[in-house]
Amino acid sequence: MTAPIRHLIAGNWKMNGLKAQLTEAIEVNKAISAGVNADVLICPPASLVMVMAEVLKSGPLVIGGQDCHASATGANTGDVSAEMLADAGAKAVILGHSERRADHGETCGDVLAKVKAAHRSGLVAIVCIGESDGQRRAGLTIDVVVRQLKNSLPDTAASSNTVIAYEPVWAIGTGLTPTVAEVTDVHATIRNALKQRFGADGAEFHILYGGSVKPSNAKELMAIANVNGALVGGASLKASDFLEIVRAV
Ligand code: PEP
Repeated sequence: MTAPIRHLIAGNWKMNGLKAQLTEAIEVNKAISAGVNADVLICPPASLVMVMAEVLKSGPLVIGGQDCHASATGANTGDVSAEMLADAGAKAVILGHSERRADHGETCGDVLAKVKAAHRSGLVAIVCIGESDGQRRAGLTIDVVVRQLKNSLPDTAASSNTVIAYEPVWAIGTGLTPTVAEVTDVHATIRNALKQRFGADGAEFHILYGGSVKPSNAKELMAIANVNGALVGGASLKASDFLEIVRAV
């Protein structure tokens, strides 16, 4: 029998956070040093990755990026490579977030190339998938999730270098969440697809739920079968809220 997967609670600060907000990460780091039932990650904006990694060097809080370019170097003004994130102290990177897919036209092919870049530089790729409101209303949730999962992952993906985050687009930042039955169904589908493609290792991947996770709903969401943690946006910005979610595991 395989050991249960330890939950991962990951915070996505998006385009929020100046040096003054490092205190929030320091508070999280200090609190989790006393021992919690989950691994904890914060993904600040690229401008804070290095300083946050330096400040938290000695603690258990892990730092990640929010996106990377597929190439290691080059004429790509404004972009950050996976190698640069790793060099700055990141251990993971969020890829294919719906805001990047929508605002920057990222396709599953683009995401797959970025996942390869993350693996090339030793970063864990946190790959986001999820249906839009229109797709949900059209009954396409499972189709969309299965297609994005298939087309965003390279064959080299493994439970050691890749985390899946199911994030229904309509639940992000809206206060809305799917029902327990809906999350159960989608996560079971993702688990089965991972097992079909990656064999026994498919049972070991973290599958996070993301979309309006808050202190008030974290316990219920984190207890669902095949939910191995959360990707948290808004509620990760304040240490007290984020810590309540961590402690809900
Ligand atoms: C996100 O953007 O990844 C997210 C889950 O946001 P929120 O928690 O604010 O819905």
